[in-house]
Amino acid sequence: MNKICVFAGSNLGVYPDYAEQARELGKLMAARDIELIYGGSVVGLMGEVANEVLKHGGKVTGIMPRGLFRGEMVHTQLTKLIEVADMHERKATMNQLSDAFIALPGGLGTYEEMFEVLSWAQLGIHHKPAGLLNVRQFYTPLLDMVDHSIEAGFVKEEHKQLLLSAPDAASLLSQLQTYIPPVFGNKWNQLS
Ligand code: AMP
Repeated sequence: MNKICVFAGSNLGVYPDYAEQARELGKLMAARDIELIYGGSVVGLMGEVANEVLKHGGKVTGIMPRGLFRGEMVHTQLTKLIEVADMHERKATMNQLSDAFIALPGGLGTYEEMFEVLSWAQLGIHHKPAGLLNVRQFYTPLLDMVDHSIEAGFVKEEHKQLLLSAPDAASLLSQLQTYIPPVFGNKWNQLS
């Protein structure tokens, strides 16, 4: 596993544990020679993880839509900054470049990016692992929502395997590294 895409809040959140785990992830990625692929921002948890990878001599590629965010948001010290036309091209580029995906705590932007990855995995468009860094149980309500969706008949039980999760960066990285892509039957109950 050479490159991991990290989706993360563009804010820091109210508990310092969020930024601490973001930095821990960055440190471990640099130590294991895993390149960080991310949105290219200097602010929030995005900035924390990128700075830590760079601080420990690792590689970081940022992918930024041209002109969408104010200039001071863009990280200017990255190994590589790729400018793209829009958010769609940004996600496509992040996905193409990466071997796996991690979501740190974040908001609507983070959810959207992670759920695109998951929904494409359940369709078999890619077979890359994806995991939530469940710092301080941040993602427990979202994992409950997935269970609720299974009970309500909208998500297949077997697709839950696509969403890895762990409370700390080291455990999540080992889950991603040992992941074996599951083989699924038909996604649609009415066609089974
Ligand atoms: P959110 O979770 O809503 O803070 O959004 C975070 C995600 O949306 C990131 O993974 C980015 O891809 C994108 N994003 C939101 N705000 C910014 C920003 N200021 N700079 C760069 N990307 C951003």
